Amino acid sequence: MSHVKKSFGELDVLKDISLNVEEGEVVAIIGPSGSGKSTLLRCATLLETMDEGSLTYCGQNAAVNENGRSRYASKKELHDIKENFGLVFQNFNLFPHYSVLKNITDAPVHVQKRDRDEVTAEAKKLLAKVGLEGRESSYPWQLSGGQQQRVAIARALAMNPKMLFFDEPTSALDPEITAGILKLMRQLASEKMTMVIVTHEISFARNVADRVIFMDGGVIVEEGTPEDVIDNPKSERTRAFLQKIE
Ligand code: ADP
Ligand code: MG
Repeated sequence: MSHVKKSFGELDVLKDISLNVEEGEVVAIIGPSGSGKSTLLRCATLLETMDEGSLTYCGQNAAVNENGRSRYASKKELHDIKENFGLVFQNFNLFPHYSVLKNITDAPVHVQKRDRDEVTAEAKKLLAKVGLEGRESSYPWQLSGGQQQRVAIARALAMNPKMLFFDEPTSALDPEITAGILKLMRQLASEKMTMVIVTHEISFARNVADRVIFMDGGVIVEEGTPEDVIDNPKSERTRAFLQKIE
């Protein structure tokens, strides 16, 4: 994304954000509450429209900047562009009235129009991968928060995305449950899944991210390797933030 701006009324939430993510890269976004991290992810994943700036996936324009406004591609083009990425939220956002299996297979079958048997077989493999083998008939309310988040990750993976976005995936979870989810995300990173992760888990960001971005007040204050940003922050704002949360 390039020169992205977004306001809600008088409130300028994103002030000229440019961000490029390479294939296979793991980018961690950290920063105080209200700094615009979720809005950035929502703009990047087309859940929210940008006011100004451009957005490109794999050379395909989702939006271009035209006369200081973002002009979006057609519905059909955006539909195709959405195939590039999956999204995992803080509160799992599973469909409560769908079984685990249906949560995972619904979009591949109905949006991607893939063969149901093939998708079902793949969903069972994905459930094993996330540590929930055999739970396909369960409903979200029968699962713990950590298990629901594992289903959400399996659901995102079932679309065969090129990249995954995570918005504070462990913020609603207990510490010991968090560790399991972080381990799963670390495994995805080792498999070279491209990921953008908004997180407060600083040690996870230090160990897993290729690049760390510190946001504050709608701008990228500082970015670089974990060693640069977390261990040797240049900005006083970054230093103050890290001191507060560690
Ligand atoms: P973060 O994820 O870093 O905590 P957000 O992107 O959620 O920050 O929010 C940034 C600012 O934008 C906050 O002040 C928030 O209240 C405001 N905001 C976010 N979404 C909306 C919205 N839909 N309408 C009005 N204000 C919003
Ligand atoms: Mg947020």
